[in-house]
Amino acid sequence: MKAWLLEQYDQPLSFEEVPEPEINEPTDVIVKIGGAGVCRTDLHLIEGIWAETLGTPLPFTIGHENAGWVHEIGPNVTEFNVGDPVIVHPVASCGKCLSCRAGEDMHCENMKFMGLTHNGGYAEYMKTSERALIKLDDGVNPADVAPLADAGITAYRAVKKAAPLAKPGKKVLMIGMGGLGHIGVQLMREFGNADIIALDMNKERLDMALEYGADKGILGGDDAISEVRKLSEDKGVETIIDLVGTDQTHADSMKMLRKGGNYFGFFAI
Ligand SMILES: [Zn+2]
Ligand SMILES: [Zn+2]
Repeated sequence: MKAWLLEQYDQPLSFEEVPEPEINEPTDVIVKIGGAGVCRTDLHLIEGIWAETLGTPLPFTIGHENAGWVHEIGPNVTEFNVGDPVIVHPVASCGKCLSCRAGEDMHCENMKFMGLTHNGGYAEYMKTSERALIKLDDGVNPADVAPLADAGITAYRAVKKAAPLAKPGKKVLMIGMGGLGHIGVQLMREFGNADIIALDMNKERLDMALEYGADKGILGGDDAISEVRKLSEDKGVETIIDLVGTDQTHADSMKMLRKGGNYFGFFAI
């Protein structure tokens, strides 16, 4: 099959002929890739900033935002059949360790992170485990939803935690309307009841956020902090979800957060 390989750090990926993945474990599933998103993490992987932390030997195939169709199943796979359209959680977790049993698969002690520690989805086929798959509804095109496998669930986790605080009459400030933010706004619109203020450096992204459910858009820049404070009686907003996570947004957030407010911050690597 064809795959995009990371052969050398800081170099473009190369498009090569490689062996197809094979079923080894009884719960292995091979997915025919229908779509694979590009995450900022992929750019960092190419730059090699995690070379030592992950220690994944080169070459390997990156791509952790995947969706497609079940192509082959191991003998113990019970919930999926060949041909099923699926979206693939990036992590193939063991299901047996304490973290997995607590529902915290991202902290699995035996995790395989497809596209980071094992071959990912920039290929025709990718191997994962049954536990990582979610069936797609009929009519959903895998390529249309692939980024939800990572960008979608990342925004979802933050919004799910913040949403109980987003009560009527309160304000939620969401910083960064990029790959995570535009999904986060839609989730907050569904899960919360507060006014949503979107903040971004880019006007087009703000317009998109307004279209997707934000009540107010603030353009990043020198006046942004005072504008947010103006919208909140100069007290700051009750809740902030900082989807950018730089030193700058961490610091600025503290100037826009009401006393006793809640801040949900990401860390950009
Ligand atoms: Zn990612
Ligand atoms: Zn586990």
